[in-house]
Formats: sequence, structure tokens, C-alpha cells
Amino acid sequence: MWQSAPVDVLQRALTAAREHLDGIRDRPVVPSLDVGELERGLGFPLADAGMDPVDVIDLLVRAASPGIVGSAGPRYLGFVVGGSLEAALAADWLTSAWDQNGAFGVMSPAGAVAEDVVAGWLLDLLELPPTASVGLVTGAQMANTTCLAAARHHVLAGVGWDVEALGLGGAPRVACVVGDEAHVTLLASLRYLGFGAPSHVVPADDQGRMDPAALRAVLATIDGPAIVCAQAGNVNTGACDPLDVIADACRPTSAWLHVDGAFGLWAAVDPARRHLVRGAARADSWATDAHKWLNVPYDCGVAITAHPNAHRAAMSIGAAYLATGALRDGADWTPEASRRVRAFAVWAALRSLGRSGVSDLVGRCCLLADRIAQRLTDAGVEILNEVVLNQALARFGDDATTDAVVARVQSAGETWAGGTTWRGMRALRISVSNWSTTEADADRMAAAIIAAARL
Ligand SMILES: *Cc1c(COP(=O)(O)O)cnc(C)c1O
Repeated sequence: MWQSAPVDVLQRALTAAREHLDGIRDRPVVPSLDVGELERGLGFPLADAGMDPVDVIDLLVRAASPGIVGSAGPRYLGFVVGGSLEAALAADWLTSAWDQNGAFGVMSPAGAVAEDVVAGWLLDLLELPPTASVGLVTGAQMANTTCLAAARHHVLAGVGWDVEALGLGGAPRVACVVGDEAHVTLLASLRYLGFGAPSHVVPADDQGRMDPAALRAVLATIDGPAIVCAQAGNVNTGACDPLDVIADACRPTSAWLHVDGAFGLWAAVDPARRHLVRGAARADSWATDAHKWLNVPYDCGVAITAHPNAHRAAMSIGAAYLATGALRDGADWTPEASRRVRAFAVWAALRSLGRSGVSDLVGRCCLLADRIAQRLTDAGVEILNEVVLNQALARFGDDATTDAVVARVQSAGETWAGGTTWRGMRALRISVSNWSTTEADADRMAAAIIAAARL
């Protein structure tokens, strides 16, 4: 039984959410942090007696508010986070209320069909083979892991080794080739799968793109199972590896080509930037995020492979009593068994935007990143990268000055952007990935950065 009328506690959450979102355009992006206040508000000896759900929500809102970052709003430039589209957020709430388990179709027929539908929509939008297999996971970290598990199965099966049965002990060595700018989570995925560190690291150019000639030279030295990990969307520069040329280099070999395209793969939806990921469809697997550029709430990543049998062999838990037949079993395509039905939020995001809306979202973010970079350039700030996507790197003289500017930008609260090191130089890292950011927001953020630079 509900302890309070359900509408009371959900209404209370709705009111708090509305207050948060309605005020997000005006509030400082990052609260003035008082960790002690948060610890006192949230932390106390757990009482023996329970509390009315409405009071619990009131208490949570009061206690957590001083530590909630405005990353859902239009002026957050940190990491690559995206916000939450209205329809996706509401669908996500319903997903919680429905509390469906996405492991097996029989546990949520609607979840299974929604997952099939969004799989098709995503393959279509990202211009990937319609026959590819899709799993909805927590993020690109697990999408990389899932895809590389499929790769591990496939390349070892190719030399007669059943890795699911025998493990890696005594297995033929798998060469794992990455670009010098591979994302840290991809390296973690290789570790999780028992590969350890990459066997070959291919140099990257000044934008962070893998050098395909160097890849060709590396592949010529490999005689045995191999996995090549390329990238679409460098987290600093936004640059994409030359996937077409990389696919050419892999073609004469039996190497599995994986693309970590957490946000960069979405360039495919924008006619002005589609060329950045030309050749992507020729890969064997792709990892991307829905919670970054598609702006669905956390968490949602997408693992896609061109080899459904390898994907399923690597992931399926496959006990006989679990075989359910007509409906998709999500657990066949993801590392998890019990799992939130992430497809409802993705379905709502895609349906609310439509094809043109997805394309506009991606294109707009790129134009706004370029606009901020242009404003900074006009004010005499150095931009270290070619702004080809939604990422820009700003440098303010030397390392110490740049770090001081980063700190002032962050404490001023008009926007939030992180510091990074690019080719040995400190920089302010700017990422535009929120659906609600406008030109006025971009100008306001550029002005805040220029003010922090005291130019
Ligand atoms: C963000 C990102 C990841 C990790 O994604 P999560 O969603 O945080 O798991 C992996 N690769 C690239 C290129 C990224 O930008």
C-alpha cells in the first residue's frame, strides 16, 4: 500500500523538478560548494522508524539542492554531458513508475518492442547496417565493453578458439590496436575483457586523429587475431579518425574494426558534418551514447555490432528456462540481466525531435561551439583545435594563466567548463551538447570566459 496518496509524493517531486528546471536559466551553473552542508543535510544516523514519503522528498530536495550542478541547463560546457529533452525526461519518470525489467521480453513486452523499434531508428539515423545488433547499456564505457566482447568472441572463433568455453588462458594472443588518443574508458574495456593494455598504439595527428599510414604499418606486423579500435569524436578536439581509410587498411586483414563514437558518431545525422564519419558503416562494431548528444537522462549507451551472432554469443546468459521466444530478450545483448528499460526515454527523445530535430540538435551545438570559439578568438584568445564538431579548446597565454582562468570561469558560475591538457598545453575545454542552449547563451558564456580572462 502507498503510505501517502501517490499523487502527493509524485506531485511533490514534480513541483521540485519544475522549480529546478524553471530556474536553471538564471541560477549559477555550479552552486557555491559547501560539502559540510551537504554532509549534514544528507548524512545522519539512519533512524529506526520510517518517514512519510512526502517528508522524505521534501528533505531530499532541501538537503541535496546545495550540491546539484546545473548540467541539465543551457550554460554547462563541461565534459560532454547533454541535458534531458522534455519528452525523454517524462518518459524516464514513467519508466520508473512502471518499473519494468528489461532483461526478458516476457517481463515487459512493451519494453522489448520499444527496444526493437529504437534499435531500428538508431541504425537508420546513424547510417549503420539495418541488420546490426543493438544493446542498450549504461553508457559508452559499457558499450565499448560489450562491442569488444563480441570482437573477442569473433576473432578468437576465427582461429578455432571458443573463448566463452575456454577463457583467455592459453588462447592465441589477440592484438589490440588503438589510436594514441583512445578514450580512457576504451582502455578500461580492454582491461575488463582480459586483454590488458593495448598491444599497439598508433600515433595521432595534431587534432588527435589516428594516422592511417601508421595503422597500415602496424597491421602488416600482426599475424593472428586482431582488434582495431578507432574513434569518432575526440573528447578534447571533437576530431574523428579517418574511418574510411582505416576501414581500407583493415579490409585485407581479418581484424575486427570497432568505433568508439560516444558522441562523434552523431555527426552522421548532420548533413554539414556527415563527412567526418564517412566510412563508419564499414566497421564491425560501434559504441555510442544516448545520454550525451541525444539528450536522454542518464544512463543510456548503445552497443551496436554488425555480427549479431558474435554479439549474442558474448552476452547471452542463455539458460534453457529463460528462452522466451517471440519477444526480444534484452539480456542477450547487454552485460546486465535485470535492467532498466532505457528504450522508453530513447523512443520519446527520437519521436519528439523527429529526424529533422535530431539533425538540428547536433548541427546547432556545433554552430554554437564555433560561435563561442569565434567570440574568444575575436577577444584575442587562442583556440588550439579546428572546431569541426561541438568541442573547442581555449588557451590563455601560458599554463599557469590558463589554469587561473579555468578556476575563475568555474567560480563565477555563469558557465562551467573544465581544464584539460592538449599536446602538453593546458586548456579550457568547451563542449556544447545541450538541446536548450541558444545563441544568447553562447554569447553570455563567451562573455563570461572573456571576463574571467581579464582581457
Ligand atoms: C564519454 C565518452 C566515453 C565514455 O562514455 P560514458 O557514457 O561516460 O560511459 C567513451 N568514449 C568517448 C569518446 C567518450 O566521449
